[in-house]
Amino acid sequence: MDEIRDAILADELDAVAALPVPGSYRAVLVRKDEQDMFEGLSTKEKDPRKSLHVEEVPTPELGPGEAVVAVMASSVNYNTVWTSIFEPVSTFGFLERYGRLHDLAKRHDLPYHVVGSDLAGVVLRVGPGVNRWKPGDEVVAHCLSVELEDPAGHDDTMLDPQQRIWGFETNFGGLAELALVKSNQLMPKPAHLTWEEAAAPGLVNSTAYRQLVSRNGAGMKQGDVVLIWGASGGLGSYATQMALNGGAIPVCVVGSAEKAEIVRSMGAELVIDRSAEDYRFWKDADTQDPREWQRLGKKIRELTGGDDVDIVFEHPGRDTFGASVYVAKKGGTIVTCASTTGYLHQYDNRYLWMNLKRIIGSHFANYSEAWEANRLIDKGLVHPTLSKVYPMEDVGQAACDVKGNLHQGKVGVLTLAPREGLGVKDTAKREKHLAAINRFRGV
Ligand code: NAP
Repeated sequence: MDEIRDAILADELDAVAALPVPGSYRAVLVRKDEQDMFEGLSTKEKDPRKSLHVEEVPTPELGPGEAVVAVMASSVNYNTVWTSIFEPVSTFGFLERYGRLHDLAKRHDLPYHVVGSDLAGVVLRVGPGVNRWKPGDEVVAHCLSVELEDPAGHDDTMLDPQQRIWGFETNFGGLAELALVKSNQLMPKPAHLTWEEAAAPGLVNSTAYRQLVSRNGAGMKQGDVVLIWGASGGLGSYATQMALNGGAIPVCVVGSAEKAEIVRSMGAELVIDRSAEDYRFWKDADTQDPREWQRLGKKIRELTGGDDVDIVFEHPGRDTFGASVYVAKKGGTIVTCASTTGYLHQYDNRYLWMNLKRIIGSHFANYSEAWEANRLIDKGLVHPTLSKVYPMEDVGQAACDVKGNLHQGKVGVLTLAPREGLGVKDTAKREKHLAAINRFRGV
C-alpha cells in the first residue's frame, strides 16, 4: 500500500497502474457480531466510537464493470452515523439481501461492513467491460449503485428496483484505503481541490442537486423563495449555494449565531437562527402548536418583504415537517429526502390540499445529476464546505461530531493521504476560489 501511496504522492500515475493490487487493506467497518451492542440504549447514548473499527480486510475480487480505487480521502455522511448506531435498522440486512441477488453480489454479504459513501483517489484496476476509465485516473465516486437489468431503471436510474447506496447498502465503501465501485460511479476529480476537499461534496451535493434543482426534485427557478433547514449542514450548505447561484432567494435556517455567520459569509442575506427564535413546534410528544408555525411564517414574510415560500428543502423530518407544510405558499413544494428527527411525520393536511401544495420525495441522484453536481464543483460554481478533517483512526470521533450536530458543512477523513493539502493540480484555479473553498475551515 505504501508503494501505491508514494507513487500517487509523486504524481507518477503510470507507475500506480503498474503496481500490484494489495491483497488486503485497512478499512472502517462495523461488525455483524456487534449489531445488537446498543440494544436498550436511547439514540443519544449510542456512541459511534464504540462500533466503528479500523481493521485490515481482504481486497474483494474485481468483477465486470467495476473498478478498484486507491482512496486518498473520504468524508463522513449521516448514513455512516446511521450504520454505526444500527438505526433505524442494521445495515447487515441490506448486505444479506444484496448477497442473494447474484453470484458477484454475494461478495458483499460478509460478517463486517466497510462503510463510507464518498471518495477521492486514483483508479488502480478496472474490470472487464470498462472503457471510459483506466488505472491512473484521478477520480471521485458518487454513491449510486444500480444493476439496470430491469426496464424500470432506464428513464431515471434512481428508479432501478436494484438501486442501492454504495457504502451503506453495499459493502466495500469509501472510508478505507481501497474501495470497490461500479465504473459508472466514477467522475473526474476537480483539479483545483485537495484530496479531502474533493471527497467532501459527493453525496450531499448530488442529493441537494436532485432535491432542489433537478426536474426530478423541486425544479427550482429564478426568484423562488427557498426555505433551507440546516443551511450550514451537509445538505444545506450545498442547497444554499445552489439557491444563490440559481437566482433563487434562500431563507436559511440555522441553529446558532456562528452558523448564521457562516451562511451570511456564503452570500445568504435572509437567515433565521432557530435557537434564538426558540421555536416550539411541539407542545408535547404528540401535539403540535400551529401558532408556532405561524410565528415562523411571519418571520419568513418579514425577511422576504412579504413573500411566502415556494420550496421547502426538508430533511429534519418529524420536528419540522408540520411547520414546513404550513409555511409553503399556495401551490408550493415541500421536497424531502430524510427524517433525521423521526420518520413518522405529522402535518395538518388541510393546509396541503386546500392550498394545492405538493410533497415530493427525493433520494440521492442519478449518474447524470451527480455528474452535473460534480461539474458545478469543478467549475468553481459550488465549493466544498469542509470544516474539519480527521485521520482514519479517529473516524469514530468524526462520526460523533456529525451525530451530535457539533460540526459545520462536511467532516473529512484522510485514508491514504498522509496529511491535508495534497492533490492539487490546478493552482491558478484554486487561487481564484481559495476564499470560498476555505470558508468553512476552522469554524
Ligand atoms: P447534517 O450535516 O447533520 O446537517 C443537518 C442539519 O439539520 C444540522 O446542521 C442542523 O442544523 C439541522 N437540524 C438538526 N436537527 C434539527 C431540528 N430538530 N430542527 C431543525 N433543524 C435541525 O446532516 P446532512 O448531511 O445534511 O443530512 C441530513 C439528513 O439527510 C440525515 O438524516 C441524512 O441521513 C439525510 N440524507 C439523505 C440523503 C438521501 O439521499 N436521501 C442524502 C443525504 C443526507 P442547525 O442545528 O444549524 O439548525
